[in-house]
Amino acid sequence: MALREIRVQGDPVLGKVCKPITEVTPKIVDLIDDMIETMYEANGVGLAAPQVGILKRLVVIDVGEGPIVMINPTIVSADGEQTGSEGCLSVPGKAGQVTRPNHVVARFFDEEMNECEVEGTELLARAICHELDHLDGHIYVEKVEGELYDVNYDEEVEE
Ligand code: ZN
Repeated sequence: MALREIRVQGDPVLGKVCKPITEVTPKIVDLIDDMIETMYEANGVGLAAPQVGILKRLVVIDVGEGPIVMINPTIVSADGEQTGSEGCLSVPGKAGQVTRPNHVVARFFDEEMNECEVEGTELLARAICHELDHLDGHIYVEKVEGELYDVNYDEEVEE
């Protein structure tokens, strides 16, 4: 396992659409391990592959219940609404108000390429929406209501 460099806003890789994963090769296994380590090291609750420069449809999320590895994830249903503070490891030191669904169901493949489903509310729903946006080249700042504000890096939850 190794830490990977987190790309920051302005890096063109963050604006690209990612490609599906067809096979979990040893390289993908290494990438998953590295992404989890990098996410924890940065105190994030989620990380998408393009944030470490890899244009694959892969995200890792941990909202405090253990890591979820999502390969080729899609949101199959979303309802409700939540508005709250959101940040991103690719936009260090900043946060902003974003409205997201309060409940989502997502389908994805796990590391053995088994089809899985996860249901999330509140922070998990927010994290799923945020990370999946990265796979299509979108960053949360596009959805911020009002201005971005500075946050104390150690106190705020970063996604
Ligand atoms: Zn992000």
